[in-house]
Amino acid sequence: MSTTVTTEGGPRFRLSDEQREIRAMVREFAEAEIGPIAAEIDMNHRFPEESIPKMAELGLLGMIVPEQYGGAGLDYVSYAVAIEELSRVCASHGVIASVNNSLYSYPVLTYGTEEQKQRLLKPVASGQFLGAYCLTEPNAGSNAANQETTAVLDGDHYVLNGTKLFVTNGGPARYLIVYASNDRSKGTRGISAFVVDAETPGVKKGKPEHKLGIHASDTREIAFVDCRVPVANRLGPEGQGYKVALDTLAGGRIGIAAQAVGIAQASLEASQRYAQERIQFDQPIANFPAIQQMLADMAVEVDAARLLTYRASFLRDQGRPHAIESSMAKLYASEAAVKCADLAVQLHGGYGYLTEYKVERFYRDAKICTIYEGTSEIQKMVIALNVLKQFEEPRA
Ligand SMILES: Cc1cc2nc3c(=O)[nH]c(=O)nc-3n(C[C@H](O)[C@H](O)[C@H](O)COP(=O)(O)OP(=O)(O)OC[C@H]3O[C@@H](n4cnc5c(N)ncnc54)[C@H](O)[C@@H]3O)c2cc1C
Repeated sequence: MSTTVTTEGGPRFRLSDEQREIRAMVREFAEAEIGPIAAEIDMNHRFPEESIPKMAELGLLGMIVPEQYGGAGLDYVSYAVAIEELSRVCASHGVIASVNNSLYSYPVLTYGTEEQKQRLLKPVASGQFLGAYCLTEPNAGSNAANQETTAVLDGDHYVLNGTKLFVTNGGPARYLIVYASNDRSKGTRGISAFVVDAETPGVKKGKPEHKLGIHASDTREIAFVDCRVPVANRLGPEGQGYKVALDTLAGGRIGIAAQAVGIAQASLEASQRYAQERIQFDQPIANFPAIQQMLADMAVEVDAARLLTYRASFLRDQGRPHAIESSMAKLYASEAAVKCADLAVQLHGGYGYLTEYKVERFYRDAKICTIYEGTSEIQKMVIALNVLKQFEEPRA
């Protein structure tokens, strides 16, 4: 990321040449390869199998992973840009890639041993297999610390028992990061992270959930029944799993913020076009101040959301603290996506309510961004605790 001085006035934030090339490349790919199937996979709730090798070919499934482990070796800003571009065309593709990158590949890259990276990261970052992240349980949603899945040591294996809910990529994924408690009396310090091969006996995948939006993203329950996982598949030391989960989510939230920016951007673009094409009272509706205000509101929301997302990504690239900034980006961008998609439907009038127009899909797809990887209420809680901490510090 660089700062350049433009003739339009003042220093201006801009992407590097390489980041802009990635934007152009992913945009071209998304419009050519995903655009034609986006409505159909939404309508049929169909996971886009055919897109996986194509995204893999472009390195979109292991963007932040070094090439030696099968990835593209890009930075987080590039990653955010790419997820935005995928989601601008199809939010389901955005989350499929985001989970594979942020929620699976990142923790294996960061906490895995060299042997684990070769065995468990390379095949996923290269897109040969997909990865998924299993944290949520029936009694551990917003309160992820309340893990009831257990992992009991038995020789050179752990025996996992428990049920995970809402697993994105759950059906197609070959490798699953599973959080489980070795000792519930230790609370979060008793939680460990494991990579489970989905073909292990005792992994029981449920049916895909039917959802409001992101229909082409596969979401399902996965149960673990006396599932024997080698000790060699534990990620990081025993008892460090909760730390792995939280660190992973700080990056994951950047992916969801970027997904939301893509949906908001698509809503704005569809509205720009429609406002100039639709004639009422003998003139384009774009002439009406009420419509202009909608467009202005959307434009500001998109810019603000994107800048917060870039800031969080940039800090992560610099290895600087970014958990709060990720929460801010995720909170703001997801609410912005909901607002922009809502305004886009309103601006399209009755046509916006029809599936024939894309904004109907954007409206349904936007909502999930305010829920997964921490609801808006949880992001506010995280941000507020940090604000209060800042107040306390000078007094100490
Ligand atoms: C489509 C989809 C895909 C998902 N993918 C994954 C995945 O891949 N992996 C995974 O592990 N999970 C996944 N999830 C789960 C998701 O992260 C959780 O649904 C989410 O964290 C909220 O948990 P919950 O549903 O149990 O809601 P709850 O925690 O029960 O929350 C219910 C309501 O209470 C509010 N609330 C809860 N606690 C507080 C509090 N302390 N203060 C204020 N308000 C509070 C919440 O904000 C919410 O409004 C997915 C969910 C969906 C719907």
